[in-house]
Amino acid sequence: MTLIVSGLSAGYGQLAVLHDVAFEVARGEILAVVGANGAGKTTLLRAVGGLIRPTAGTITLEGRSIGGKATEKMAGFGLTHVPENRLCFPTLSVRDNLDLGAWSRKGHGDMDFVLELFPRLKTRMGQAAGTLSGGEQQMVAIGRGLMADPTCIMLDEPSIGLAPKVVTEIMAVLARLAVERNLAVLLVEQNVRASFKVAHRAVVMHRGRVALTGTPAELIEMPEVRNAYLGGA
Ligand code: ATP
Repeated sequence: MTLIVSGLSAGYGQLAVLHDVAFEVARGEILAVVGANGAGKTTLLRAVGGLIRPTAGTITLEGRSIGGKATEKMAGFGLTHVPENRLCFPTLSVRDNLDLGAWSRKGHGDMDFVLELFPRLKTRMGQAAGTLSGGEQQMVAIGRGLMADPTCIMLDEPSIGLAPKVVTEIMAVLARLAVERNLAVLLVEQNVRASFKVAHRAVVMHRGRVALTGTPAELIEMPEVRNAYLGGA
């Protein structure tokens, strides 16, 4: 396993949000993390990505302990975090946004690969990122993360606010990253349907704990999952 999280607890000051969370993601695999609003999905990525300090537990990436390490060190360990709301530097060009992703790897990011994944960015390299569509900004955010040449990429709700066609495009890219680039992909999603189409396994979080784990096919057979996340369909 590439990313191994065990006994992870974390929160904000006195507020404990995550309790004893455990899961693993292998290279070549997409693990979806779903759950209701406030279940702790974003907090989980923040804790793994070093934005908040775990209060308990261990996190290893490719056998190296990364738990509690500073977030700016994570790219060097091979971990990329694409946060919510596709944060780009709005006044910088697409090219500069992408280049910034490679700083931790001394400029060795594979720009050609990023542009092959997202061909529509090719004609917008000089455009200020803030003037792109939401979908294009998401592409830049993912592309910037890839420029650090990670072994594991974590994404927080990449589909939010995007048209279904763009969501399909983004999910197809994640599938390629797992299969062709052998990345471990940790995908937090509200859009359970879209994430279950590409995920190999999924965890359902409930009140800061892992409530269920399984393949998407197993999970969608469960009435509690269907009712809570798939409109009972
Ligand atoms: P959503 O799908 O709505 O984004 P989530 O599953 O990602 O939800 P989190 O954002 O991780 O959930 O929030 C988990 C809990 O932590 C919530 O009760 C939230 O109010 C609290 N929380 C989140 N961020 C902070 C913060 N910066 N300071 C204090 N509490 C926070």
